[in-house]
Order: sequence, then C-alpha cells, then structure tokens
Amino acid sequence: RQIQFHDEARPKKLAHKEPTTEGLVQKAKELKKHRQSLPIFSARDVIIKEVKENACVVIVGETGSGKTTQIPQYLLESGLAAHGTIAVTQPRRVAAINLAKRVADEVGTPLGQKVGYSIRFDDSSSKDSLIKYMTDGIMLRELLSDRLLLRYSVIILDEAHERTLRTDILFGMVKSIQKQRQDLIEKGRRDIQPLKIVIMSATLDAEKFSEYFYNAKIMYISGRQFPVKILNTVEPQADYVDAALVTAFQIHQEEQQGDILIFLTGQEEIESLEKLIEEYAVDLPPSVGKLIPCPIFAAQDSATQQRIFEPAPLGTRKVILATNIAETSITIPNIRYVIDTGCHKSRGYNAKIGIESLLVEPISKSSARQRMGRAGREAPGLCFRLYTEDSFDQLEEDAIPEIKRCNLESAILSLKATGIDDVTRFDFMDRPSKSGLLRSLEHLYALEALDDQGNLTDIGKQMAAFPVDPPYAKVLLQSAKMECTKEVIEIISLLSVDSIFLAPSAKREEANEARQKFTSIDGDHLTLLNTLRAYESVKGDRDWCRENFINARHMRHVLDVRKQLIQFCERTCTPSSTFPIDPKKSCGHDLEIVLKCFLAGFFQNTALLQPDSTYKSILGGLTVSIHPSSTLFGKKREAIMYNELVFTTKHYIRGVSALESAWLPLAAPKYFGQRGA
Ligand code: ADP
Ligand code: MG
Repeated sequence: RQIQFHDEARPKKLAHKEPTTEGLVQKAKELKKHRQSLPIFSARDVIIKEVKENACVVIVGETGSGKTTQIPQYLLESGLAAHGTIAVTQPRRVAAINLAKRVADEVGTPLGQKVGYSIRFDDSSSKDSLIKYMTDGIMLRELLSDRLLLRYSVIILDEAHERTLRTDILFGMVKSIQKQRQDLIEKGRRDIQPLKIVIMSATLDAEKFSEYFYNAKIMYISGRQFPVKILNTVEPQADYVDAALVTAFQIHQEEQQGDILIFLTGQEEIESLEKLIEEYAVDLPPSVGKLIPCPIFAAQDSATQQRIFEPAPLGTRKVILATNIAETSITIPNIRYVIDTGCHKSRGYNAKIGIESLLVEPISKSSARQRMGRAGREAPGLCFRLYTEDSFDQLEEDAIPEIKRCNLESAILSLKATGIDDVTRFDFMDRPSKSGLLRSLEHLYALEALDDQGNLTDIGKQMAAFPVDPPYAKVLLQSAKMECTKEVIEIISLLSVDSIFLAPSAKREEANEARQKFTSIDGDHLTLLNTLRAYESVKGDRDWCRENFINARHMRHVLDVRKQLIQFCERTCTPSSTFPIDPKKSCGHDLEIVLKCFLAGFFQNTALLQPDSTYKSILGGLTVSIHPSSTLFGKKREAIMYNELVFTTKHYIRGVSALESAWLPLAAPKYFGQRGA
C-alpha cells in the first residue's frame, strides 16, 4: 500500500552531512565544542547579566537552541548557585532524566552529584546538587515541606508554553514565594537569600508570562532552522499507526539519508509500531539498509533510552518513535523526516476520572509547527502530516491552558495542602471563573475534604495525595470503610476508558445480544464488573473478545490502570496511615455495597424518576435521558446515579446504575442536609 501526499515542488536532492567521527576520548572536549556551537552561546554573557540584575526574566528560544541544557550551567558558572541549588522544572519525567544526564556529561561529573534529577519514585539528586532537573509535580510536593523553597537560589520554569495545570499553579506559588522572601530580607533576615525566577518557553507568546511576572524582560534567542517542506495526505487516514508504518517505509526506500521521527500518542502505540516496523523490515530488499526502530517513553531502561541520541550505524536509518516529548522537551540529533500523526494524549489528565494520560486528541496548530520544525534542525527536511490540509486548518491555534478546561477540585486540594487557604484570591495567570471556583469549593465541602471554615480535613489531605480526581478518591476512601476496595478499584479502572464494549453499527444487534450475558439489573457499574470477571476467566482470550464485542485494547488498559491503583494503595496506605486502604479487600457477592460506595463520591450525579416518567437531576434540576448505550436505557427506576453527563441533542447520562432514594442522605449528609432532602 502507498499513501499519497500532496506534493508540488518536492526537493529531491537534500544536502547530506557526514556524521562526525571523533574518538570517545575526545568526548569531554567535543561536548565543550558542541556547547560553544549552540546558538545560545553568543547570548551567554547577556543572559547572565540579565538574570543577575533582575528578579524575573523570560527567555524564548527555538527548540534545540540550548535553553534547558545551557542556561543552568551559565548561571552555575557565574556563581548564582552559591546560596542554593538551581532548579529546572519539566512537565515530563523522561525529559527531566535525559536532560540531567546530558548536563552531567557536559559538566563532567557523575549523575547525582553536581547535576541530578528528581521525579516521583526516583530521586538521583543529592543535597550537594547544584543543578537539579525535576518534574513540576515534585516541586509542588517539596513545597509541602519547604514552604519558601529555601534550598533553591534560582527556579527555572521550563516549557512554560505547555501551560499544564501544575505549571500554572507553580507560577503563582513561585511568584508569591519570591515576594515573601524579599519581605523577610527587608525585615532584616540575613539567613534568607532572594529567589531568581527564569521562565523559558519555545513559543513566541511570551508577553503574557512577562506581564504576569511584573513585566519581566523578555530575551529572544534565535535558533538555526532550515526550510522544511510539509506534505499533507490527500485523504484522511483512519488508522494513523498503520499510515505511519507505511510512510516510514516509503521514506526509507525513497529518500536521502537522515533519521525519521514519528509522533505518536503513548507507550502502547509506540510499542506496537516498533513491532510492526521490525516485522516489515525483514522483507526489505538486501540493497536497502536496515531500518531500526528506537522507541522513547518513560518506562524504559536508560541504556535503551540513550540509543536514540547515538548515530545509526553506517548505511542504516533510525526511526525514532516518540510522544510529544520530542516536540520541544528533548532534541534528538540527525532528524530529517518527521511523521506527524496529528494526535497526542492530553498530558496526565483523563477528564473523566483524573487518571494520567488517556484522552487522544488532535494537536494544536502551534504543536504541528513545532513537530515540523524538528525536521529542519541540521539540514532542510520533510514533514509528512498524516492528515489533510483541511484538517490542519480546523485545528485550534494554541492548546487551551489546562486550568481552563480541567475541573479545579484537584488543583484546589493541592493549593490548600500547601497552605493557601483563600484560593479565590490566588494569583492565577489565567483565572478560572469565580463561579467555577466556588462550585468546586462547595463540592469539596460536600465530599468532606473541607470543613465548615473551608480548611482541609484529614480526608481532604489524604485525597490531595491520590492520583485520581477527588470524587474517585472519596469513593476509594469510602471503600476501605465499606470493605469493597477490590471491586471499587476495578470499576474505577473500567470507567477510565471510553467503553470496553464495541458497537459496530453494522452489527449492533449482535453486539447488544452478546452484552446481555454480562448485564446486571442494577445497571452499568456492575455490568462492567461482570464483564471484567468474564474476561479474566478466559484470560483475555482474543477470540473471546471478538465474539463478545469487547474492545481488547481498552481492556488491557483497564488492567494497567488497575495495577497502578493497587500499587498506589499499597505504597501510600500502610496500616499506620490515617486511612489505611487494603486493595485486596473484597465484598464478595454483596455488590449493593459497591454502589453505595460510589454514591459517596457521586451524590451530585444523581437523578430521580418523575411522575411523567422522565428523570430530573438532583443538581440543577435538569431533565436527563439515559443514553442508549446504557443497560438501563428505557428502564424506570426510582433513583439513578451516573458517571457522566454528555450534552448532544439532549442531556444524556452514561454509566448509569439504579439506587434507592433512601441511600442518598446517608451517602452525603453534608450535601443533602443543606438541601433539606
Ligand atoms: P532547548 O532547551 O533550547 O530546546 P536543549 O538545551 O535541550 O535546547 O538542547 C540543546 C542541544 O543540545 C540540542 O540541540 C542537542 O543538539 C543537544 N543535546 C541535548 N541533549 C542531548 C543528549 N542527551 N544527547 C546529545 N545531544 C543532546
Ligand atoms: Mg528545552
């Protein structure tokens, strides 16, 4: 199969540069040369001067110009680490690790000494580390024990353009800490040093950052960029992994030397494409060099990860399989061809349940441009977009900051847990709406995470530490009391994917019939659980999945989420903690308790049957309709609870289970008490 790309004036002959062949002994010296050859090097002295003279500086520079690896070293060399470590925050763990390794090499000391990194469950820094790469999540956590972040002299907030919820929260925290430290210094505290803030971004929308940080000076670092030709597909591609596979082989057989970079959405996709490339590469004619897949993702050993930075053996070609980490966070040398699938996973957030990385979404135009740019770092390149030009035109210009699209309950819990009591007055760069904030506060109160004064309760503290959204965290905590944690973890995992059931329109009848076997009269939550049990009893057999219209890929993901949740409970909820949670605790056949448990987190997502046979939501009094995909579609039950509300032509509710209305006041006394229900 061939994929057609629009192509008018395609440059056939690309200049080719021989890879440098210098001995390993030269490494240190070579790196020094490399450092001095980076575009940022000529700005070294100006950067040092500006950071010394100003409290906040914004630095914008093309990806690969040397911001992340060089600026911390410049500041170190100029003595700015004399009173504390230089911290560099990253939204992604893999980037933090890789950058720390690289900079340790450049500085010439083993990783973990002068230069270290710190990510969740993995800390390679020591207290002597002068430069520390860390995820923004870790810095938020460090704030819990070091409110003024006194161990740091400079905080570099990198990849600011990504505008993750955590980065946005950090902006506000760091800004406030800088001021608090300054106030203490002015009061004569000699033990406290001022804090320097450096904001770094790969895109040009820096004015906003500057305004927020007291009109901080913006410095622009120009990069080196060769022209990149864009090739859009003629037709939309239904399966972008397959399209990427075909395109990679097309490039390999038709184009000049130079490595390929493919942007995919996650580890699972990366691994399946890696296998496919290996399988197909066997059939290449002997005259064509090898095509070597090099995946990069978080959960891989460092030797494998290092491979992506090493040149391919002569006569072969590497194809790097990456997520949007390769967009701006890390620069991979020798890329001449980019294959852009046009999709990504919205980082660390599944709007449904707040578990990491599940929503595959179209990227923004500015991401697409960044991806394209990766092909032109060292020579002119080609960017193959696996989508049409029309689809590109329909993309959003920029991604919407997470703070505008996520619910805020988890952010509020983080703020409160770091001692910020009045979150409505927090200095947000993009302010969430006041009503949104108040709604979230009320909800947290009803969930018993906040008390009457709006202070964090013990339950709330515990919920702040959970890797899921507050309502799910509450259900998990409740499950320890009701002794049904095993079932609750399973259902939360099942709810984390779109649907485990396939519903091909041509075979809808058959699919519905197959599902009957698993259907519980109590509704969707327990139906999901029955299906998981059946799936496990056949050990996830592929034929069984096909016969029963089960989405095998989603099911594997469910098992993965379940594993993560179990590990989390085991790690953090030891018997000595305030709320020990035993993930093995099962309620056996008494499954009604599981629904009561969910109600403790989802009391707002409930509706009552009306005399005219419609359902009216308890929150907001909306008329809601049970979605046709639900097992309770067309059924009349006294009270129902749902997982999500989707508005299309009507207010549809999905993930619906039946309740008794008498359970409601018991499940959330604070909520129903207020309403006199
Ligand atoms: P920026 O932050 O401006 O995007 P970086 O500081 O991350 O740029 O990278 C600067 C340069 O350092 C890159 O262009 C790349 O050539 C090189 N580099 C960075 N990390 C590595 C690595 N692990 N191995 C080899 N080269 C690297
Ligand atoms: Mg960078």
